[in-house]
Amino acid sequence: MFGPPGAGKGTQAQLLGEALGYPHISTGDMLRGAQKEQTELGRRARAYMESGGLVPDELVDAIVSDRLRREDCRQGFILDGYPRTIPQAEFLGELFAREGVRVLTLGILVENHVLMKRLSSRWTCPRCGRTYSENLAPGTVNSRCSRCRVPLVQRKDDTEEVIAERLQVYHKTTLPVIRYYRERGVYVEIDGDRSVKEIFDDIIDIVRERTDLKLQTSL
Ligand code: AMP
Repeated sequence: MFGPPGAGKGTQAQLLGEALGYPHISTGDMLRGAQKEQTELGRRARAYMESGGLVPDELVDAIVSDRLRREDCRQGFILDGYPRTIPQAEFLGELFAREGVRVLTLGILVENHVLMKRLSSRWTCPRCGRTYSENLAPGTVNSRCSRCRVPLVQRKDDTEEVIAERLQVYHKTTLPVIRYYRERGVYVEIDGDRSVKEIFDDIIDIVRERTDLKLQTSL
């Protein structure tokens, strides 16, 4: 699942994972988890993440290949936030070629000014990673995650300065990755400036057209 920060790819990846019965694998969530647990990986990733830059390929490649080896990925998985660089895409390409994995990449498109607004008003559940917009900000009764009931927090990298850097990094290093999948004929683009349901309906249609996978949707 591709898209600039704030495009809603985490939300859509989660929904699609639920519909297909596949795990949703977010490198951002895994790296934030490692920081919270104060592991060596978390310690090494912290400075890159707080400045809005990318964590070095070899660190991210290692956590992804470990994660994909787990039993729950046997049938399939949704990758969110990975690959973000050409070397990561090549690493994944070799892994997939060895395992015979088929790929569909979905790109959610949203303009920069809309992303800026969305991200600076985004609140996140520190436990499950679900995101909420400003009208659910702390201070109201809704300031807890509706699923986990823990208080919502604002991500350290969701400040205006860091967001600008993350968008720049996205354009510079991740757009070539999109080109890489486009050239291989497995990339489909979706207009992300719409409701969660409208975007998800599009995704469902694309998955049905392009694959023979069975989907169970509740939206
Ligand atoms: P995200 O939650 O996907 O926006 O990721 C948050 C931050 O984690 C990014 O700004 C990067 O610092 C780091 N990160 C996540 N995924 C990757 C990746 N595939 N490669 C390098 N850094 C990553």
